[in-house]
Amino acid sequence: MIIDTHAHFYFPELLDNIGEVLDNAQKAGVGKIIIPAVDFRSCDTVLKLVSEHDMLYAALGLHPGDIKELDEKEFYRLEPLLKENKVAGIGETGLDYYWDKTYNDKQKAFFRNHLELASSYSLPVIIHTRDSVSDAIDMTLEYKDKIKAQFHCFSGNTDELNRVLEVDNFYVSYCGNITYKKSDSAVLVENTPVEKMLSETDSPFLAPMPHRGKKNQPAYVVDTIRKIAKIKNTDEQSIIDVMRKSTEIVFPRIFK
Ligand SMILES: [Zn+2]
Repeated sequence: MIIDTHAHFYFPELLDNIGEVLDNAQKAGVGKIIIPAVDFRSCDTVLKLVSEHDMLYAALGLHPGDIKELDEKEFYRLEPLLKENKVAGIGETGLDYYWDKTYNDKQKAFFRNHLELASSYSLPVIIHTRDSVSDAIDMTLEYKDKIKAQFHCFSGNTDELNRVLEVDNFYVSYCGNITYKKSDSAVLVENTPVEKMLSETDSPFLAPMPHRGKKNQPAYVVDTIRKIAKIKNTDEQSIIDVMRKSTEIVFPRIFK
């Protein structure tokens, strides 16, 4: 069974054809999908979706790109939501210095709040690190004994990758962009033991080849897995089996 650990189902591209998208996923061998929220509105949508569809699970959090206008006090509205059914993790949280560098301190404060909450609720954290991977690793390392972390859509350098791989509780995942011709992620994939990798799509973004340019969906995760298998010089099924085991370690609640 393949698990797509990262698909944003509240975008109309996926939501409007959810029956078909889930059907395609199942046909491709995807058995479970985690939907990370990015703000309070998507938290509500995600909770509704996971109550309606067996194969969907929730991660709840506030994306660094969506907190600029929020008061820090509002963060605590997240906590009661974690007690809802099928909440498998916290996220998507993290740091994003790509779009706007004017509120990095506020991003760090919110990220720290997520890490604290994850350690009090024993939930794994899904971390976004666009142009911020070094700071995000520094902060997560402070919690390395208390939480499991997924550095999603990983795109640091090999030194940064090694700082993540050194920690038992830390994992990475790669998106469809590793299948692009100009991708410099091949060397990262090469240096990541499969045991430390989870599968994800980041749907509806970053569709892998040969779907590049289209809206991504969980079924396309097989194309990313195929590329990983090629880089690792092994067969797809053994990649799928190892990733499933790691997913059980990081997101045990989706197997209950
Ligand atoms: Zn995402």
